[in-house]
Amino acid sequence: MPRDGASTPHLDVIVVGAGFAGLCAGYRLKKGGREDFEIWEKADTVGGTWRDNTYPGCACDVPSHLYSFSFALNPDWSRAYSPAAEIKAYLERCTDEFDLRCHIRFGTELVQGEWDEEALLWRVRAADGREATCRALIVGQGPLNKPAYPDIPGGDDFEGLAFHSMHWPEDLDVAGKRVAVIGTGASAIQFVPWLAERAAELTVFQRTPPWILPKLDRAFPESAKEANRSFPLLTQLRRWLVYGALEWRALAFTMTPGLMKALGKPARDHLAAQVTDPELRAKLTPDYVIGCKRVLISNDYYPAIMRDNVRLETTPLARITERGVETAKGERVEADILVYGTGFRATDLTGGFDLVGEGGRRLHEDWADDEAEAYYGVCIAGYPNLFYLVGPNTGLGHNSIVFMIESQMNLVMDALKRMDQSGARAIRVRDDVQKTHNSELQERLKRTVWATGCSSWYQTKSGKNVTLWPGFTIDYRAKTKRLRARDFEFLKAPAIAAE
Ligand code: NAP
Repeated sequence: MPRDGASTPHLDVIVVGAGFAGLCAGYRLKKGGREDFEIWEKADTVGGTWRDNTYPGCACDVPSHLYSFSFALNPDWSRAYSPAAEIKAYLERCTDEFDLRCHIRFGTELVQGEWDEEALLWRVRAADGREATCRALIVGQGPLNKPAYPDIPGGDDFEGLAFHSMHWPEDLDVAGKRVAVIGTGASAIQFVPWLAERAAELTVFQRTPPWILPKLDRAFPESAKEANRSFPLLTQLRRWLVYGALEWRALAFTMTPGLMKALGKPARDHLAAQVTDPELRAKLTPDYVIGCKRVLISNDYYPAIMRDNVRLETTPLARITERGVETAKGERVEADILVYGTGFRATDLTGGFDLVGEGGRRLHEDWADDEAEAYYGVCIAGYPNLFYLVGPNTGLGHNSIVFMIESQMNLVMDALKRMDQSGARAIRVRDDVQKTHNSELQERLKRTVWATGCSSWYQTKSGKNVTLWPGFTIDYRAKTKRLRARDFEFLKAPAIAAE
């Protein structure tokens, strides 16, 4: 229904992004009988991070039966931990099964959204010039899509092939090549074994060793899939078993970091079993509490590092040169290919677009220096009817983010319902409520394992943790199940109020 004359289309809801979060939003809107929505997706397929990351070895480190929608259980997962391509295919299937494709506007990248205080709606604009208005804007873009590059001088000087792990070249051939990798995080430990097997020489530059647990991966036999298909409750049961096995860890991660030692032993044993050279083992042994940075899982990373054609370099990098990398000790390591496994700007949660709220306030200014704050990560004071999925302080170190996304959509759906019931056009979380919520969060975060002294992508430059939820996911689920009306102001448009 056009609202601004015939030229500007109006929708009840616009969702940004067609990854796990955006598709979950689409499913829940439809299920709630709300068909008047579009999903704006900048790329030409769905899948989010599982479409964007195509590096060899890319897989989820949360077990498949949990890393999926509760409303779309998949009896056919091929392995305990699914590869990226299989997760992307799952999301494609969900898109079709839930008839979401007709709602998705591909190649449409949100660049600006402005809250119209008179009309109580969002005016949004895409990169291709498309404009629309909507009552509610749901941002489902996620935090792990803006590559982070290290601030090492000389990056532009390199004359070989250089790329970030998220921009892995199709059909990359490294045979006979000298490859240098910067970073040893979740992505690098997945693609390093592939490079190690194929490159002539591989140098891995490690700044901080990660804690690595054995990966309890296995292929599911056909008989197990058949059993899942015949008895859907079995898939449900597998899911809840995995959930329970992971959820208890919140106790250690977020309340009693002392308990993390229990997780440290299997990691140390894993390292000792796989790395026999004491010097190399010392280089690979972390000196911070396990869990402070993301805990990784792998069975093939340490064996890859031990190969004759692989070298682990722990001297800091001084600069990147035309022909490779120079360490702080002045050693030059020549390379034909340079891979940045340096992660993402995860604390920049704005989404990269310009959002203008009440009184002309801008989200990237309110969240300057990445100091993002929201109400349960979803609603933001000064930005009525704006809903973030995987917003500030809703990431996890111990469980599946899909569980959090589904919780967030409970809150969004309840917000829409409450607006309808009350005749309000908009809701806005109260400023004081958001402040109190965040000071309590930050107090709780001080007691977590993430505050035990390491530096990680969970934190901003000032050390503030703006990415993780400091508690059980079940607690988050309970707190987001229904909108607490007293925490919000309900806004009615004059014309509507008079009706
Ligand atoms: P990451 O965990 O942030 O790792 C980045 C790596 O680059 C770290 O080893 C870091 O060292 C290093 N680094 C950064 N700047 C450097 C510099 N100037 N010099 C040397 N080393 C530098 O990034 P990621 O591996 O891409 O993973 C990011 C997140 O994506 C993960 O934690 C996870 O949430 C997600 N992910 C998930 C999966 C999955 O299976 N679900 C798979 C891949 C990624 P420091 O540790 O010293 O900072």
